[in-house]
Amino acid sequence: MIIGAGFGGIAAAIELLRYGFTDVTILERGPGIGGTWRFNSYPGAACDVPSHLYSFSFAQRRDWSRLCSPQQEILEYLEGVARDRGIDRLVQTGVEVAACRWDDASATWTVSSADNRQWEADAVIVATGQLHQPSFPRIEGTFAGHSFHSAAWDHDYDLRGKRVAVIGTGASAVQFVPEIAPLVGRLHVFQRTGNWFLPRENRPYPRWMRWLVQHVPGVQEFRRRFIYEYGESLTLMIRHPRTLGRIGSLKSTLFMRKQVPDPELRRRIWPDYTFGCKRVLFSSFFLPALGRPNVELVTEPIAGFAGDRVVTADGRERELDCVIYGTGFKTNDFMFPMEISGTGGRSLREAWAEGPHAHNGICVPGFPSLFVMYGPNTNTSGGSIILYEEAQAAYIRQALALVRARAAAAIDVRPEVEAASDRAVQARFAGTAWTACDSWYRDQSGRIVANWPGYMREYEAAVRVLDPSEFTFVPIPDREPVAA
Ligand code: NAP
Repeated sequence: MIIGAGFGGIAAAIELLRYGFTDVTILERGPGIGGTWRFNSYPGAACDVPSHLYSFSFAQRRDWSRLCSPQQEILEYLEGVARDRGIDRLVQTGVEVAACRWDDASATWTVSSADNRQWEADAVIVATGQLHQPSFPRIEGTFAGHSFHSAAWDHDYDLRGKRVAVIGTGASAVQFVPEIAPLVGRLHVFQRTGNWFLPRENRPYPRWMRWLVQHVPGVQEFRRRFIYEYGESLTLMIRHPRTLGRIGSLKSTLFMRKQVPDPELRRRIWPDYTFGCKRVLFSSFFLPALGRPNVELVTEPIAGFAGDRVVTADGRERELDCVIYGTGFKTNDFMFPMEISGTGGRSLREAWAEGPHAHNGICVPGFPSLFVMYGPNTNTSGGSIILYEEAQAAYIRQALALVRARAAAAIDVRPEVEAASDRAVQARFAGTAWTACDSWYRDQSGRIVANWPGYMREYEAAVRVLDPSEFTFVPIPDREPVAA
């Protein structure tokens, strides 16, 4: 059973089918395949990782319209890949999974939906990712006007001529603010923290470039490799903020100074933390949009809503028609509020009481044959999450092949192995830029739970070959124990 039909879930299904696991079902909460690329349809939505890398290694396209594809193009790509490999037939849409319960007696999982349907499974792959539950800020009072989150854009609401507030200036907001700024009457952009920017114009590829990629052997592979290494160089800068990181901050500084000539505006947008600590934003259009006559950057904290007004801490009130929340996701919640219980009825919430952690971000001790994709410490600040997901899919397939080979019921990572790998992951953050500020990568205690601390190639190497000695095997009920 796979939960979630985004890139992770589709990658897992393709891998399993390819290796002869045919009894695969995918439960998806949305109305179709796509995950985050279905839900995030805000104006200007596009990936800031170039498509030659932000795509499956086994389904390379040579006809991307531009460097960083728009949301619709990515969604169509994923749907096409799923269709070509017969995965779409395995997906049941509109199913909100509420619980996954392991039963010690039968050594199987029972997956239940919010509308009380049930499925039995030998293995569960939770591919709900880190970016699927919109986060709303706690703000005093109630806003009387219209509002929505960037991950649930209200396309029926006509923004033309309206007085609009955007709360948040993260990766999503910097994509839609330049798109809506020319339409709205007045735009108030509420920024809590400034960001580091790098250029991204993302114009459609010229014809000669498309021709080159399509017809000249090796150009496609070269581009993918080049972008891969560019991503690794970002990680290099984040890992070494005092030395190589300075190259990144210098490049960003020069770009941002050119983009914002007004010294007062520049002072207000300038980040007060180390380059790379939060996600570096790629946009050549957001900062100039702030200079438009109908756009105001507000850095004063929001004190509350009063009717159709937003009140800032300095007592100033702004009348609004609409509030758009660009405030990101409940990233530390992973699959919660889904109830997951493992051996002895122990809940995952209990296991993760001090923060989420999993061996290779995939396996949690005491939860046999439960696998998390894009789980704890597998997010990347420089690179493509799809590479991680492909690597995870292959790792999970190896785990299930072992279960089959040993005629076992399930596979469970040894607690000491998981604890040691978690310690090693956490230790690798020391001295990196990620530790230099607060961000959505950290949980409430400050532990970094979202990101992988190293390079893409290190993660791929770490999960390439599953080591059976790191696991125990749950016997099929009433059969002999399975040798380690
Ligand atoms: P985000 O990066 O978490 O940004 C949320 C924004 O809302 C930040 O500016 C944050 O300020 C602000 N905010 C949050 N809570 C607030 C509060 N209570 N009061 C005031 N401001 C508040 O969310 P996102 O922009 O949706 O992006 C999330 C992630 O999705 C990205 O980091 C990225 O990984 C992914 N993404 C990727 C792409 C892509 O092109 N590949 C595009 C969009 C998103 P602070 O900075 O002060 O916390």
